[in-house]
Amino acid sequence: MLDTRELGRRPGSMREMTRTVPAPPDLGIEVLGVAEGAPVELDLRLEAVMEGVLVTGTARATLTGECARCLEPLTEDTEVSFQELFVYEDHALHGEGTGDDEVSTLEEDLVDLEPLLRDAVVLALPFQPLCMDDCPGLCPECGARLADDPEHAHEAAIDPRWAALTEIQTNDD
Ligand SMILES: [Zn+2]
Ligand SMILES: [Zn+2]
Repeated sequence: MLDTRELGRRPGSMREMTRTVPAPPDLGIEVLGVAEGAPVELDLRLEAVMEGVLVTGTARATLTGECARCLEPLTEDTEVSFQELFVYEDHALHGEGTGDDEVSTLEEDLVDLEPLLRDAVVLALPFQPLCMDDCPGLCPECGARLADDPEHAHEAAIDPRWAALTEIQTNDD
């Protein structure tokens, strides 16, 4: 929650601030996200406009999760930016015919940054987190992590020509 009272309601007034907040729960998706309580660094700019307060900012945090291919734990720094207009409560109540109930409102001059932050972080997450771009994943036979042991082979090794075909199929996946 961010207090906007200091800003006043004069359009054009502006305030910049930097603060570090603990990450709220569920900031991310199941396989990758910011651990609850981990520091989130925020650079914020609040601008008073006619209808409310325009909040522009960037957030920096460390994501933790696991590689989608080899399940190795991974950490990654992320930086996301966001912008949202928070409408004064009285404006929102009297606003007619906008038909937009998704509008963010200021409640008692407080801005709730959490949904904004959550949307920005989730949008920025990779679809499949990987420990490295070309992670070879796990050995289909024994589950060993192939990145640790690229020369890894089994007694009944597949004919190399077939292995190449298998690889092509995997890549098409
Ligand atoms: Zn991996
Ligand atoms: Zn193996």
